[in-house]
Amino acid sequence: MGLKLHNTLTRTKDDFVPIDPSNVRMYVCGPTVYDFAHIGNARPLIVFDVLFRLLRHLYGPEHVTYVRNITDVDDKINARALRDFGAEIASGALSLNDAIRRVTEATATQFHEDVAALGCLPPSVEPRATDFVTPRSDGRTDMITLIARLIERGHAYETAGEVLFDTASMPDYGRLSQRHLDEQQAGARVEVDAHKRNPGDFVLWKRSDADEPGWDSPWGRGRPGWHIECSAMSAAYLGEVFDIHGGGLDLIFPHHENEIAQSRCAHGTAVMANTWLHNGFLQVEGEKMSKSLGNFITIRDVLNDWPGEVVRLAMLKTHYRQPIDWTLRGLREASETLAKWRSRAILPGGIEFPEGVVEALKDDLNTPRAIAQIHGIAFHERKEATDRAVQERAEARMHGALTLLGLQSVLEEGWLQTKRRAASQVSEATVAAMVLARVAARKAKNFAEADRIRNELEAMDIVLKDAKDAETGELVTTWEVKR
Ligand code: AMP
Ligand code: ZN
Repeated sequence: MGLKLHNTLTRTKDDFVPIDPSNVRMYVCGPTVYDFAHIGNARPLIVFDVLFRLLRHLYGPEHVTYVRNITDVDDKINARALRDFGAEIASGALSLNDAIRRVTEATATQFHEDVAALGCLPPSVEPRATDFVTPRSDGRTDMITLIARLIERGHAYETAGEVLFDTASMPDYGRLSQRHLDEQQAGARVEVDAHKRNPGDFVLWKRSDADEPGWDSPWGRGRPGWHIECSAMSAAYLGEVFDIHGGGLDLIFPHHENEIAQSRCAHGTAVMANTWLHNGFLQVEGEKMSKSLGNFITIRDVLNDWPGEVVRLAMLKTHYRQPIDWTLRGLREASETLAKWRSRAILPGGIEFPEGVVEALKDDLNTPRAIAQIHGIAFHERKEATDRAVQERAEARMHGALTLLGLQSVLEEGWLQTKRRAASQVSEATVAAMVLARVAARKAKNFAEADRIRNELEAMDIVLKDAKDAETGELVTTWEVKR
């Protein structure tokens, strides 16, 4: 069987036929860098990493180009910079642009640490939006040129310092989300802006005040709307029409619909990408994740308590199009499964990609079926292996299967040791409370209790260091994880 993928454009599972098998091209919308990414954001990162791995397996690693952007211009970023560096900006110690750069650099670094810990391969290219606003010396597509072309072709208009996309100029606007313009207008509850020709028209370029980041353009100093970034960066690296475009379900409308409108109208093409993939949503312990409900979990929070591989497996146990309920129980089960998959008679030497696992993934990334196949290898092939050659083959197949899912690191010697603290599920708060209890015991001269706590922490691979504070002479205890 060839690769089949569920295409949001057709609402069916279609045969995947690349435009050019020597360069299979995929674009996935990346993060807006203003804060830690949450565990819902981890889902597209992991799902599309598995697809990237599968495409590399099927077409050869050098024949796949995966672009995932970083959105480093957004009003949420400006707000964060003002919140964190307001005083420095007000006193003139820091310019707004420098403050913004600090926010985006720090957040992008956190993001890179998170995705690496989740076992995701870096994409082939990771363009940053701010590098694609104005025309480039290398001639790659930029946003201002795209917007100018849309105006020229009658698909966009300038009004009140903004450039808006004219949705009525595109007969099949709404095809991806299957929302039709007349429906949208009839049912529109959005207040119609006086300067918009149609209620659904969206912003391509908006004016920046002096205290907002901006670039000079034919429409005055301003900044791009969100959707135009992805149209520019995908064209810059993948061309006017490419194979796969992905993201979470919530991006279908308006983001992807508007990307399609911009790209197709600017380039005069029938599609932007042939296949549109969308992952289902994640909720936490049965509830929608939100800051106000107090169940908002960052990837970093989860990685403090669990190895990235456990998070990854917990995510992949559900098919990417289904909703996921993120639970502690799911994490525990994934952790137990990995421990079982690790236990083996010999170290894996070679690598073999089991057909059952590859076939499951080729069937619209059926990871639950791939995982069932891996159980078969782990519990039957291994168990039934009577001689060394058969054992080695079982391990090589285990190695290949786990590599396809990006979980091969669990087979490495020492995996458990380096991840022990995480695997032991000790939270920083627990350790801090135990350290404080020990300090209190020592102050009360209850040395037996202090030693008991030290031993208990040691069993969890936490090493304590006692030192006297140079100034106050007080005992200060710090702790770290044994490596
Ligand atoms: P955002 O930062 O909101 O643009 O989201 C980045 C990516 O994460 C997009 O592909 C979203 O569709 C996806 N995403 C956001 N929240 C969730 C969630 N709760 N479950 C699954 N995917 C999500
Ligand atoms: Zn996008």
